[in-house]
Amino acid sequence: MQPSLVTLLFYFFVMLLTWFIPCCTEKRPVYYLAASNVFFALMLILNIVRPYGFQFDEISHIKLVQLPWNESYVLAVGTASLIYKITVLIFLTLMSYLIYTLFLVIRNNPSRNNIAMLLATFFLVASYLEAILVRTGLINFLPLGTFGGLGLIIVMSIILNKEHADERNSAAIAIAKQHKKLETILKTANDGIYVLDKNGVLVQANDAFLNMLKLDKSSIGKLKLSDWNATLENADLKQQVQSVLKSNQKVVAETQHRRSDGMIINVEISINAVDIDGDRFLFCASRDITERKLLQKELERQAHLDSLTTLNNRGYFMLLSEQELARAVRYASELTLLMLDIDNFKKINDTYGHKCGDIVLQKLAEIFQKSLREVDIIGRLGGEEFAILLPETGRNHAFEIAERLRTNIANTEIEILDNQSIKFTVSIGVAALNPNVHKLDDLLIMADKALYDAKNSGRNLVLIADNGKSSDIS
Ligand code: GH3
Ligand code: MG
Ligand code: MG
Repeated sequence: MQPSLVTLLFYFFVMLLTWFIPCCTEKRPVYYLAASNVFFALMLILNIVRPYGFQFDEISHIKLVQLPWNESYVLAVGTASLIYKITVLIFLTLMSYLIYTLFLVIRNNPSRNNIAMLLATFFLVASYLEAILVRTGLINFLPLGTFGGLGLIIVMSIILNKEHADERNSAAIAIAKQHKKLETILKTANDGIYVLDKNGVLVQANDAFLNMLKLDKSSIGKLKLSDWNATLENADLKQQVQSVLKSNQKVVAETQHRRSDGMIINVEISINAVDIDGDRFLFCASRDITERKLLQKELERQAHLDSLTTLNNRGYFMLLSEQELARAVRYASELTLLMLDIDNFKKINDTYGHKCGDIVLQKLAEIFQKSLREVDIIGRLGGEEFAILLPETGRNHAFEIAERLRTNIANTEIEILDNQSIKFTVSIGVAALNPNVHKLDDLLIMADKALYDAKNSGRNLVLIADNGKSSDIS
């Protein structure tokens, strides 16, 4: 006898429900689904082959059961066939296997979802078991049976669905928490962090960025990178931005930003391009390095200066002088070098002490700075020896300047100790640039030679190097 259409539909319905339960869980137990499918397939085949497989072969007699609430049921009593016994055995084994698989799933992942699924399966098994027992007359009870079991499955499915909704909700909460953390990071960061779209329009910015450029939130969505980047015309940076847009390479560059009040600040900018939903965005961080730059400049300045006199040290004097000399040679302009040495400085040190010697060196530097021009390059070559490069100055004029310096120094009283002051003199050698001499080293040798001659001629004297001889201007 063929199973009725209702029976077939019923089995399909139960199968769909059994699939529905694991589909609601985050981990889908493949074994569970496989076992339940085998079970229902078996039920279907058995029913097709033996429609009465779940019933007695021979009914020996009928028994009437009276329930306490006055309901009465008719019970069939008889003998079961071997195939019936095997079917029940397979059924129980499969059901046990289902429950065992679920226990394993729960052991690995004891979530509420999986426990609810186990309960649903348990009720399903219980209801089938009850159906078998009722049909075979072993018990006769309220007709909960299969439909009661299905009701339970539906209830459990609703529970699972709710669980799923809870999970979705907790996922949303987790995302919100993550968002809050990221927002706090952006708020805490000292660097200006911002996002540009592929056209360079500002689409997002943290407070530090807005504060750095003195902007308010309304600038977001309106301003473009070129509105605040003072050096975007800089082909290098423009090219780098283009290459960032094309590749996924991060670019770090130094540039300048223009604040809304017009002030220019030095920044180090790092840019990274990221694709989001097919659109390309630039993620940027700008660090204000104005202070760092100033410090760098100050350190550079200090590295060029002599710490006692704050005049250029030997190395920097040579560098500046080389540049000046090259310019003078290029434009055929005049240029003179003075070499100056304190007379009998050792005596000053010996008489008044090294500290007083230092004061003399500092005072001498002050006199230089006061009496020379901005363009003149003054350097301490070492000890009590100084050099002065006078651009646009011919030999005669340089001699006058040197002479003025010498007399000025000789007439200056320097207070070295309380109520004690001294006077000192200097000797100066002068060498002027000429068609035969256009190297700094040669000028230095010539001036040094003139200075040496001045020392030998009695000190407190200015001499000019002239064709291998030293002379005064007359
Ligand atoms: P001359 O007229 O021939 O130049 O004689 P001088 O004594 O000036 O020259 P000398 O080279 O004999 O001595 C230079 C002295 O300068 C010796 C050194 O101790 C002193 N000196 C060099 N550097 C410093 C410095 O930084 N501070 C002080 N106080 N003395 C220095
Ligand atoms: Mg000296
Ligand atoms: Mg000396």
